[in-house]
Amino acid sequence: MRSASILAFAFVLFSLGCQSAPRHSAADWAIAIHGGAGTIRRDAPPEQLQAYETALTRALTLGMDMLGEGAAALDVCEAVVRVLEADPLFNAGKGAVFNEQGEHELDASIMDGATMRCGAVAGVRTIKHPISLARKVMTDTRHVLLAGRGAEKFADTAGVERVENDYFDTARRRRALERLLRERQRTGAMAPRDRRLDYGTVGCVVLDGDGRLAAATSTGGMTAKKWGRVGDTPILGAGNYADEHAAVSCTGTGEEFIRHGIARSVSARMAYGGQSLEAASNAVIHDVLQPGDGGLIAVDHSGNIAMPFNSSGMYRGAANSGGRFEVAVFPK
Ligand code: ASP
Repeated sequence: MRSASILAFAFVLFSLGCQSAPRHSAADWAIAIHGGAGTIRRDAPPEQLQAYETALTRALTLGMDMLGEGAAALDVCEAVVRVLEADPLFNAGKGAVFNEQGEHELDASIMDGATMRCGAVAGVRTIKHPISLARKVMTDTRHVLLAGRGAEKFADTAGVERVENDYFDTARRRRALERLLRERQRTGAMAPRDRRLDYGTVGCVVLDGDGRLAAATSTGGMTAKKWGRVGDTPILGAGNYADEHAAVSCTGTGEEFIRHGIARSVSARMAYGGQSLEAASNAVIHDVLQPGDGGLIAVDHSGNIAMPFNSSGMYRGAANSGGRFEVAVFPK
């Protein structure tokens, strides 16, 4: 009799254990990436659009392969962003825009939704992969954000690769700078931001097979920005954020994303207002921000994906373990 009750008790414990096991099987993952939002013209040369789609497909496929093998969300985010940073098409790493001094200053951040640990770098000039330095800030320091020369000095001790600033140069981004500076001279004023010139920020959000969320974003900022200007990308809660509800990566006019704390707003709307990922993401992009400001990608703990934008296009891609795979530029 006694052993029967012990058995029954053990069974109850076992069932409780089963109930509290992770909701996600190892195969249950979702990923979204972006390569910037802005004034992308439908009549752009088809080979140009094709090049972006090929690059996004390559990055997304890497993320999918890693997730299929059980990789952690953080590792996937970093690896995918590194691929996009290495591609001169995007305004992150190689191919970053020029500031008004004709140099590059890069921003990046990464966040682990499972632990709320995060790291960021701002205004770095010699870091080949800013996203990897952001991750080192997260893992190897007590801080969240390192800027400028201090961040670069830290890179040397953290073993993160440095390059000359002109490694990031591309002829296309130089032409964009010259065009904007000419325009400023002609009008004698600060020309309004030209969203045709500097889209190309990159980001990745992931729900991995163990139910962990993570987000990573990297950028060169805005063409002809002031020396020392820092955008939303390294400001956790503004341009990048992850917690237990959602992982979010933003792209667009950074000052607006900072003013409205956009990335954090998505998860706050879900947590406090009971909104779905879709409703929260649409609200911040279409009700809080102004048309033309940009867009975001987001994934929630159930694997839902949202990718709203209020500019003419946003380079983006999404995939999940259920067979979804898409890469797109314009609204559907
Ligand atoms: N958000 C970036 C910044 O303001 C730029 C972009 O995403 O296009 O630095």
